[in-house]
Amino acid sequence: MTSPVAARAADTHCPYCALQCAMRLEPSSTDDFDGLSPAASPVAVSPREFPTNRGGLCRKGWTSAELLSRPSRVTRPLVRQPDGTFTEASWEESLDLIAARLRAARAAFGPDSVAVFGGGGLTNEKAYQLGKFARVALGTSRIDYNGRYCMSSAAAAGNRAFGVDRGLPFRVSDLDDARTIMLIGSNPADTMPPFVRHLESARAAGGLIVVDPRETSTAKLTHAGGGIHVQPAPGTDLVLLLGLAHIAIAEGLVDRHYVDNRTEGFAALRRSVSQWWPERVASVTGVPVELQRRVARRLAEGGAYVITGRGVEQHVDGTDTATAAINLALLLGLVGSADGGYGTLTGQGNGQGGREHGQKADQLPGYRKITDPRARRHVAGVWGVAPDTLPGPGLPAAELLAALGRPGESGGVRCLLVHGSNLLVSSPDVNAVRAGLADLDLLVVCDFVFNETAALADVVLPVPQWAEEEGTMTNLEGRVLRRRAALAPPPEVRSELWILAELARRLDAPSTWPTDPAVVFDELVRASAGGIADYSGLSHERLDAQLDAGRAAYWPFPAGTADASEGTPRLFTDRFAHADGRARLVPVRVRGEVADAAAYRPDDELTLITGRLLGHYQSGAQTRLIPELLEAAPEALLEIHPATAARLGLDDGGRVELANERGRVECRVAFSAGIRPDTVFLPFHFAGDESVNRLVAASVDPISGMPEFKRTRVRVRALRAV
Ligand code: SF4
Repeated sequence: MTSPVAARAADTHCPYCALQCAMRLEPSSTDDFDGLSPAASPVAVSPREFPTNRGGLCRKGWTSAELLSRPSRVTRPLVRQPDGTFTEASWEESLDLIAARLRAARAAFGPDSVAVFGGGGLTNEKAYQLGKFARVALGTSRIDYNGRYCMSSAAAAGNRAFGVDRGLPFRVSDLDDARTIMLIGSNPADTMPPFVRHLESARAAGGLIVVDPRETSTAKLTHAGGGIHVQPAPGTDLVLLLGLAHIAIAEGLVDRHYVDNRTEGFAALRRSVSQWWPERVASVTGVPVELQRRVARRLAEGGAYVITGRGVEQHVDGTDTATAAINLALLLGLVGSADGGYGTLTGQGNGQGGREHGQKADQLPGYRKITDPRARRHVAGVWGVAPDTLPGPGLPAAELLAALGRPGESGGVRCLLVHGSNLLVSSPDVNAVRAGLADLDLLVVCDFVFNETAALADVVLPVPQWAEEEGTMTNLEGRVLRRRAALAPPPEVRSELWILAELARRLDAPSTWPTDPAVVFDELVRASAGGIADYSGLSHERLDAQLDAGRAAYWPFPAGTADASEGTPRLFTDRFAHADGRARLVPVRVRGEVADAAAYRPDDELTLITGRLLGHYQSGAQTRLIPELLEAAPEALLEIHPATAARLGLDDGGRVELANERGRVECRVAFSAGIRPDTVFLPFHFAGDESVNRLVAASVDPISGMPEFKRTRVRVRALRAV
């Protein structure tokens, strides 16, 4: 329990999703907050007018300050005792213990026996310092983060096609003038509700197209205004997109001037889609021929945006599927045009910045490849170390977790530091992850809530929440934002920057380890200079000045960016980031397993898809602690078509078991006529018996490392009361 603390007013942004809605924090009156009531908060939240959220917040944002005073918050270091219980410990004792075990593992098994797992919710400064800490203080290649589960496929596809990956390479507010918006595998009406305001123009013009096997809240928006809801079989999005490209070419909808002047690879692409004629696509996806043609023709009318989300990206062919969406947008001349484009909706709060500053297994700050000798020289120079001391590429998240607990001699990981990630709920095949975590020599969790992963830790270190810290975040459109503190954290809470500095000192690490976020940001911008994500014209001071003047700051924002400039709001207006300035049309093919998955066998297993609910965020570790949010969505409900339920003998509201070779889940059923009869849906915010990722395989996309979250075969049976 925290004691009442002095708070001040601060303009900041929501702690949760990538829309980063603008909010103002003000001290609660003493009537509102007495430091004792668990429902009260030391600050009150109100929305601010801002181009992305236009004065709106969702229920997660409105209730976000409640966590500041939750009794369950971690406010002192905790160390596990031999009997398995946790006791409070001093910082000295906790950090000495961690440093000693890290030293022992490195001495016995080498630097790659220690690993770091970061998060897409960390500020830019923390993400940067975490990557530096892994490579310089620990000397390990083993660092990755939970954004691997989020944006990696779209990022790989964007880099391949455009030479750069920025979620939305245009302003969110540019969508306000769109005539047509196609959302594929994305449900912003539940995941980021204020974003829906930007769909209104397209919806009113009959141009909102939603591709999703479920009738989501977003899909329902197509009902009014003559929009289109397309319901392909799960895992067949790639076939659908290849088919739309086929129609575009066959019907002469391609923008030939654009393709000839701004892209490479048309001839090979044309050959690759030739076999996906509409009738064949219909037989695989279940999407009628006329609906395919209607979608392609509408997109070709101009003023259109193609936007992907995790529904099509979280697959073993996620990179190729996102690539197929990009190919379609390029064929139609949308990308970089004045009134259209392609983008992907980033999920986590700093999902964009979190992948730019070096916490990815294969990247250095500035979104540079870790294998690039020039990049290594530049970053090593900023860090004051020799380039050849920097390790090479590490393992993507799922492979990193598969190495947990293995003997160190075989390349296994013996020590793991987790920052801002709840692995035991959000990872694929969580039963296997649990076994790996339990077998470590050291598991350290830095968090402000005692989540499911912390319960397995040897040491839990308490860190500040968003309202208690300074820093920067980069939202889904590449806009760099200031996070500002409205109050100090509880007395025994320490920032991640301080923790990393203290551990670096104990490990006799070279380089310097500042703890002031503004100073860390200054170092980050030097490391980013000349990279793809170039922040070198920015500082906390410059960002504050930009915001005070009502100006945004979009990267690239290189040194020398004019005072009146907003950086680069729209990318690709005259060239792409490849050396020749052209985008790549990349032929992609359908692997056999994808086509096979489309065959609906009524007596066979069902296809399980997963996703988010309006009231919860990611693993639910934070939002499940907020009474209003938990009351609205207290459990995982299995969405199933009534006809399927009748065949399986299930009652609406009855309990069921979902099972496959990896595990089992128990939950209750909710009938929905809006889901395909061959498909069931479960949200992924819940733990224990309701943890859907017990069923999800750890097989990954060979290009991006993205696990197959969105297509899992399961058996469903009723559980009868005994
Ligand atoms: Fe806005 Fe996302 Fe926060 Fe909701 S969760 S208030 S949509 S930033």
